[in-house]
Amino acid sequence: MIQELTLFTNSYEETLEAGRQLAKLSAAGDVLLFFGDLGAGKTTLIKGIISALQNISPDEVVSPTFVYLQIYGHAPNAVYHFDLYRLTSPEEFISLGFEEFLRKEALVCIEWPERIAPLFPDNVWRIIVNHLGEDKRSIKVIRP
Ligand code: ADP
Ligand code: MG
Repeated sequence: MIQELTLFTNSYEETLEAGRQLAKLSAAGDVLLFFGDLGAGKTTLIKGIISALQNISPDEVVSPTFVYLQIYGHAPNAVYHFDLYRLTSPEEFISLGFEEFLRKEALVCIEWPERIAPLFPDNVWRIIVNHLGEDKRSIKVIRP
């Protein structure tokens, strides 16, 4: 059964809090795909998730734009944070040895998942972030 909900936030802080709430709903083994334009708030949501799960400051979560992957914590409480903005192809993802990271006992959060669309596992979460203007954002969460 697909479950769907849409949240609206009016500040960076509210989006962090939405991420903290998402952290409570998800578990190791889940793959969360974050869709949305640059500046929409994908990284902010993931900062909320990771800071809640790893008990660190949101400021310690920085998007891995140049290295593609940042790992927080240890199995079974690990979080893998991918930012695939600069990835050129799904083949590059495979050749870097990342494919197996999609099926581990970790919570997997992926920004710019469009880059690896052919590799999506079954039962992914889709989180669509939209910039509605100024500091207002919509966050649509589609749970598998
Ligand atoms: P993305 O990862 O989607 O490119 P970021 O989360 O890195 O986006 O950046 C979002 C930017 O928008 C930040 O500079 C943040 O301060 C600002 N911002 C303003 N309002 C919000 C909001 N409601 N939610 C999230 N970010 C917001
Ligand atoms: Mg980002």
